[in-house]
Amino acid sequence: MSLAAVISLLTFSSCVLLAIEGRAMAKTVPTVRDIEQINDVLSSYIGKDDKLALLLDFDGTLSPLAPHPSLAEIDPESEAALKNLATNPNTYLAIISGRSAEDAREKVKLEKITYAGNHGLEIIFWNKSRYHHEIDEETRQKYEKMVTELETSLGGNGAWVENKKQSLTFHYRDVPEVDQPTYKARATSIIESYGYVANAAHAAVEAKPPVIWNKGEAALYILREEFGDNWPEKVKVIFAGDDTTDEDAMKALKGGGLSFRVSKRSEIETYADYRVPSTKTISLILQWLQDNMNQV
Ligand SMILES: [Mg+2]
Repeated sequence: MSLAAVISLLTFSSCVLLAIEGRAMAKTVPTVRDIEQINDVLSSYIGKDDKLALLLDFDGTLSPLAPHPSLAEIDPESEAALKNLATNPNTYLAIISGRSAEDAREKVKLEKITYAGNHGLEIIFWNKSRYHHEIDEETRQKYEKMVTELETSLGGNGAWVENKKQSLTFHYRDVPEVDQPTYKARATSIIESYGYVANAAHAAVEAKPPVIWNKGEAALYILREEFGDNWPEKVKVIFAGDDTTDEDAMKALKGGGLSFRVSKRSEIETYADYRVPSTKTISLILQWLQDNMNQV
């Protein structure tokens, strides 16, 4: 093959790769904010006789962000609609949270629904069966050391570690604003020095073990377990989340479900299909589903 032919083949291949990657890239998306827009989007995706799997993040999605995780409360309108959807035989409900699964259950307080905690590393299914993602001994031992170092070097002054046993969240919301960038950078560097993955969150840094498992993998696992490998033919899927870690689920469900990213920023780049400005819009979506899905 001549040099020119090799060069043109390489150029063609990289164009194809760019095109493929381009399709899967995060981008700005349309905003859905009122009931008419919600009606347009949802009624063109789901019919009243369809089965629905509703997969939802908790903090910042069902509950407005709170100064401390223990203070987060689900929006009363969302709570009422979820309660109703949880008893609808055509609706499957799962909470996929960065909290521990037990903690998410204590917050949502609904029985017989599925709770995935620690970004999906642990799943408690509605029928009490459980999934635990395997983490090797060395990584587990590093976890305890990482917690200790974060607490001794950065704890206090408004910063603290939420220890969820498999993953943690380092919170710095109450640190004086001028010092926050330093806390964020130092926490990120400590987390990465233990080989954990650091993700920026709202006034916090999440540390996740270096495993190929995230909210996206957890969402697909739940759908396969409940509906089989051919779940896309059996069930419509709606996902909503507000954070970087939720993007994994939005990416995994691209083309197989409908995703909403909660964000105040209209220019945010996301894998979701639509942006919604607040948890109030999530309440409207849940109310629409409650009113429009068949109950029998
Ligand atoms: Mg969240």
